[in-house]
Amino acid sequence: MAQPAPLIDSHCHFDFSDFDRDRALVWQRCQNLNIEALLIPGVEPGQWPVARDLCLAHPGWRYAVGLHPWYSEVYLQHNSLAQLKHSLLSAARDKLCVAVGECGLDKLKGMDMQLQRQILQLHIDVATQLNKPLILHCVKAHEQLLAELKATPPPAGAVLHAFSGSVQLARQYVALGLVLGAGGVFTYERAKKTRQAFAEIPLDNIVLETDAPAMAPSWVGRGQRNSPEHVAEIARALAELRGQPEDEIRRRCSDNCRRLFAF
Ligand SMILES: [Zn+2]
Repeated sequence: MAQPAPLIDSHCHFDFSDFDRDRALVWQRCQNLNIEALLIPGVEPGQWPVARDLCLAHPGWRYAVGLHPWYSEVYLQHNSLAQLKHSLLSAARDKLCVAVGECGLDKLKGMDMQLQRQILQLHIDVATQLNKPLILHCVKAHEQLLAELKATPPPAGAVLHAFSGSVQLARQYVALGLVLGAGGVFTYERAKKTRQAFAEIPLDNIVLETDAPAMAPSWVGRGQRNSPEHVAEIARALAELRGQPEDEIRRRCSDNCRRLFAF
């Protein structure tokens, strides 16, 4: 039988210490499943060089630089927004850095939304200036995020990772040309709205992701360590949900990923 189409995990925090004891072993299992590449998102400037070093050592790995909303408060205790912009602009020029993010808006973290919007805008500015795509994170702030994206559309495109929400919401992002990250969320039967969204939006607007070590899919169980190897099962689950051949899902989601991030 021919090899199944190669897979890409478009969002995996594989640099986190959760994988320090067995990263090489996990990556070996990924390669056995024909997972050929992964993208490590940025969470804060101190972590960017860690991600970069891993990418230098592993063909097929790429990274992004960004300030995740959960890390913003601590970062801004010792740094200014001007410093952040300077750091982003210089780090994002690296060839292995294929995107700006993850960045975005998160209402659950209780941080000032005005400040979150400023930080997001700063990332959009940098992505625009360097013509790189954005990796977006959004929790309970979709109206504000959509307004930002309409006001200043990122020219090199964007992915909204770990999308969770209705088909109506998903279509608003699709109308703006965004790609949505499909991962652990839709694998839970009770996530009915999100399942409907991923069943109905065009396949051209979907990339596969794990968000490992977080967001474990249903068969792993909430709270357990997630891993990039599960992107293979996520492809199978999406094929089942959409009633499309698994190999088509694998091939086209990887194509979408390569088109957006220039892997
Ligand atoms: Zn993430």
